[in-house]
Amino acid sequence: VHSAAERVLTGLDPEQRSAVTAPAGPVCILAGAGTGKTRAVTSRIAYRALTGDIAARHVLAVTFTARAAAEMRSRLTVAGVGGVQARTFHAAALRQVRYFAPRLLAGRAMPELLDSKVRVVTLAAAKVGLRADRAAARDLAAEIEWAKSSLVEPDEYAVAAAKALRETPYEPARVAEVFTAYERLKRGNGVIDFEDMLRAAVWGIEEHPDVAEQVRNQYRHFVVDEYQDVNPLQQRLLDVWLGGRDDLTVVGDASQTIYSFTGATSSYLVDFPRHHRGATVVRLVRDYRSTPQVVGLANAVISAARGAEARLRLELHGQRRPGPEPELRIFTDEPAEANAVAARCRALVAGGTPAREIAVLFRTNAQSEAYEKALSEAEVPYVLQGAERFFDRPEVRQAMIALRAAVRSVPGETPLRTAVVEGLAAVGWAPDAPPAGGAARERWEALAALVQLAEEYAATPEVVPIGEAAAVERPVTLAAFTEELARRAAQQHVPTVEGVTLASLHSAKGLEWDAVFLVGLAEGTLPTTYAKTPEQVEEERRLLYVGITRAREWLWLSYAAARSPGGRARRPSRFLPQLDRSGGGERAGGTGPARKAERRRPQVVSCRICGATLLAGADRKLGRCPTCPSDLDEELYERLREWRQRVAGAQKVPAYVVFTDA
Ligand code: ATP
Ligand code: MG
Repeated sequence: VHSAAERVLTGLDPEQRSAVTAPAGPVCILAGAGTGKTRAVTSRIAYRALTGDIAARHVLAVTFTARAAAEMRSRLTVAGVGGVQARTFHAAALRQVRYFAPRLLAGRAMPELLDSKVRVVTLAAAKVGLRADRAAARDLAAEIEWAKSSLVEPDEYAVAAAKALRETPYEPARVAEVFTAYERLKRGNGVIDFEDMLRAAVWGIEEHPDVAEQVRNQYRHFVVDEYQDVNPLQQRLLDVWLGGRDDLTVVGDASQTIYSFTGATSSYLVDFPRHHRGATVVRLVRDYRSTPQVVGLANAVISAARGAEARLRLELHGQRRPGPEPELRIFTDEPAEANAVAARCRALVAGGTPAREIAVLFRTNAQSEAYEKALSEAEVPYVLQGAERFFDRPEVRQAMIALRAAVRSVPGETPLRTAVVEGLAAVGWAPDAPPAGGAARERWEALAALVQLAEEYAATPEVVPIGEAAAVERPVTLAAFTEELARRAAQQHVPTVEGVTLASLHSAKGLEWDAVFLVGLAEGTLPTTYAKTPEQVEEERRLLYVGITRAREWLWLSYAAARSPGGRARRPSRFLPQLDRSGGGERAGGTGPARKAERRRPQVVSCRICGATLLAGADRKLGRCPTCPSDLDEELYERLREWRQRVAGAQKVPAYVVFTDA
């Protein structure tokens, strides 16, 4: 057993080892992206379990996404440690509430979980005389989520929102009215939202000593990954789980706080060493994930940051050998940008990069459509992560309502697939032969996807340990499946299949790929137009930092000068000129010898005929393309100059920029 524990330590650096082998008690790992925080924390669990210090079944590891939880479980299994509970806050709370529901609810049915607030918020707004369209309802729902995650009650909302400088969609007093009506509507209809579920988990422990005892007996050692994005409600749940104990390891990077709009705050992480006297504090600075070029860009973008995380900012030191130069590409319009990305994905796959090692990351989910289309046309398989689209589709919503209705009529012992098919048939939908096209085809595809999901759910029964010894299998019933669907809809999670990942920057947290495309780096998209206060702009910068640091080998940055062909011109993201791979040493727009040398550095240009990469001295004329016989000197050089003027204005263009024509 001990040699297995020793193996866990192999390959870790001294700081990582000190975190892994620290005795029971509070441990805090503060470090930048790619420094091996998640690896260290996973190794700590494995090491302690393998040395007999702790029992794996008493560990609760909280991660940010279901995908990260699954990854942690699989890494632990590889290390020979099974039975650790790695879950999101939501999943852990749901399980606890579901398990104790019979005791807490005295025989009443467990309330149904709302998969989205927006519908109920729209009704609540109408009740107080507001006609909220979809966008307004979404903003209201976001405010309610923020308030509930921040432990703010409806009657405290107006004051709290002012204090937090919230941009409220209506007068704060009106939002508070909607909030009150929303709570009343939910109660009246016997439904709860996700924050209610976390509150129920807190309440169950605080008000029921027997529940508290059982939960605390089960969970004795705690780990929280991505701790910089914990919100007050989640922290409260963590506190009641701990019940005054302190075997807690937290891991985070304040530079990666990207959920403060929903109430998350890095202050719990930043203040952890102060609040836990005697805590083992570990700082990691070696970046194991990315090439030095990518690390240089990451350092540059974050070295310009302001605010709380600046106090904790840690320069990353790349450990890997140099790789390909990151590229910045500028396109005339968005379809051109998407087509070029798709073409490059295709080339990468043809060149041997597995599709699952490629990701296209964007700021808003609405951007994914152009890439879905371009990748489909280029016949590159892709996976849309954060399946907002799937669960947002009206037919999927209808199907989920039908399935929930069917829970009451379908006998509990019916095999899940049959139950799903029958449930859908009851509302007149048969997923049999696929219709040729149009809306019917779309509906068929959505329903077929649900039946796949059901099969996958049935095929992977999960053993749920409860209490000390007992273990039950997760029920494979229609009721449990519909709950799972609601959870996934809210977490925007889809099962992964082989393909290029299309994901929002928010959902890319903690993950890594060999090749990463960061697209749409234009003003109004990143930073989004909604980022108005300096704090909001800083959060956008952190999103860019998160995006850059997802790349292991190869990084592409791009934006389109207009949304559609011939459309209104947009400016490049204000963050782009700060991306100097020298690591922020020289300031853009500086003078003196460094600046002169910079101007003489060759520019990288690609041949628009064959795509070959060419070097072009900024003050020299280009020669012929060395690869194909195109005569591109005058024309390409002119375009280069014109682009410099138009796109970068007077600002310095980093030397790695590749000017390209779609
Ligand atoms: P993020 O902040 O993005 O979540 P992280 O700090 O959690 O990053 P990990 O995901 O744990 O970083 O590690 C990044 C990569 O570096 C992984 O591929 C991991 O396997 C690798 N790695 C971590 N530590 C070492 C090490 N000591 N030697 C070699 N590779 C390592
Ligand atoms: Mg991590």
